[in-house]
Amino acid sequence: AKASGRSNFHWFTTAMLQQTEEKLALGTALRRAIESSELTIVYQPEISLRDGRIVGMEALVRWSSPRHGEVSPDRFIPVAEETGLILTLGEWVLHSACRECVALQRTAGRNLRLAVNVSPRQFQQKDLPQLLQRVLTESGLPAHCMELEITEGMLMQSPEESAEVLRELRRLGIAIVVDDFGTGYSSLAYLTRFPIDKIKIDRSFVRDIANDAADAAVVNAIIAMARSLDIRVIAEGVETEEQEQYLLDRGCDEVQGFRYSPGVRAEDFARLLEPPRAA
Ligand code: C2E
Ligand code: CA
Ligand code: CA
Ligand code: CA
Repeated sequence: AKASGRSNFHWFTTAMLQQTEEKLALGTALRRAIESSELTIVYQPEISLRDGRIVGMEALVRWSSPRHGEVSPDRFIPVAEETGLILTLGEWVLHSACRECVALQRTAGRNLRLAVNVSPRQFQQKDLPQLLQRVLTESGLPAHCMELEITEGMLMQSPEESAEVLRELRRLGIAIVVDDFGTGYSSLAYLTRFPIDKIKIDRSFVRDIANDAADAAVVNAIIAMARSLDIRVIAEGVETEEQEQYLLDRGCDEVQGFRYSPGVRAEDFARLLEPPRAA
C-alpha cells in the first residue's frame, strides 16, 4: 500500500508539473495573442420576451491560436486571471466591444445594450470605474447601454468594497448583472444589499426546466423574487420553444441562447437586426 501510495504521489506531481507547463505555455501564447490580434469578440443577442426584439448583446471573447487552435474561454480566462493578463485582455475587450456596439446601434437606428463579463481580478482593479468612464467617453457608448456581468462569488469575497464599487458604477449609469445566478452558495439577502439591476439565470437550471420539478421550482422562485425586488431577469442557455414558453409564462423578461443565435461576429449580428424603419 505504501509503495503504491508513493507511486501515486509521483504520478500526481508529474501531472501537476505538466499542467503547470501547459499553463505557462498557454500564458506565453496568450500574451502574444493579445498583441497580434488572434483574439476576436462574438456577440450573442439578448431578446425581450415582451416583443421578441433584440435588446442587447453579450460580448464573448474568442481566441484562435496558430499553435493551440481554437481555445475555449473557459480554458484561457482562468490562465489570464492567474497571470494577471486579464487586465490587458479585459481592457481590450471593453474598448473593442464598446466600439462595435456603437456601430451596431447606428445600423439598428436604436439603442442596444452591451453586456461585458468581468473577472474577479478586473473587479478588484482599483481604477475600474475610471477605466469604464474612459472607455465610454472614447467609444461614445451611452453609459445606460452598458451592463457589467459579475458573479455572486465576486460580491461575497469582500462585500463592503464590492458594494462601494457597485455604487460608483451605478453613479456612472452602468447596470450591474449577476451572472450564472443560482450557482453560488451565498444568501439571497445580498440582492437587497447591493445595487443590482438584473440577474441572469444560469443555463444549468434552464436545461431541464420543462421536465425537472426541482429546477423549475428554483427558476420560479428566482423570477418571483426578482420581480418583487424590481430586478430584471434574463435566462441563458435557452435552446427550445418549450423552455421559452415556460419562461414567458413565468414572467421572465429576457432570454438568450442557441434557440435565437450563438455568439456571432459584429458583421453577422448586424444581419440579425431588423432594418430601421423608413423615416
Ligand atoms: P458565460 O458568461 O456564462 O457565457 C455564456 C456561455 O454559454 C458562452 O460560452 C456561450 O457561448 C454559451 N451559450 C450561449 N447560449 C447557449 C445555449 O443555448 N446552450 C449552451 N449549452 N451554451 C450556450 P463561451 O463563449 O464559451 O464562454 C464561456 C465563459 O467564458 C463565459 O461564460 C464567461 O464566464 C467567460 N468569458 C467569455 N468571454 C469573456 C470575457 O470577455 N471576459 C471574461 N472575464 N470572461 C469571459
Ligand atoms: Ca456572462
Ligand atoms: Ca452565464
Ligand atoms: Ca458560465
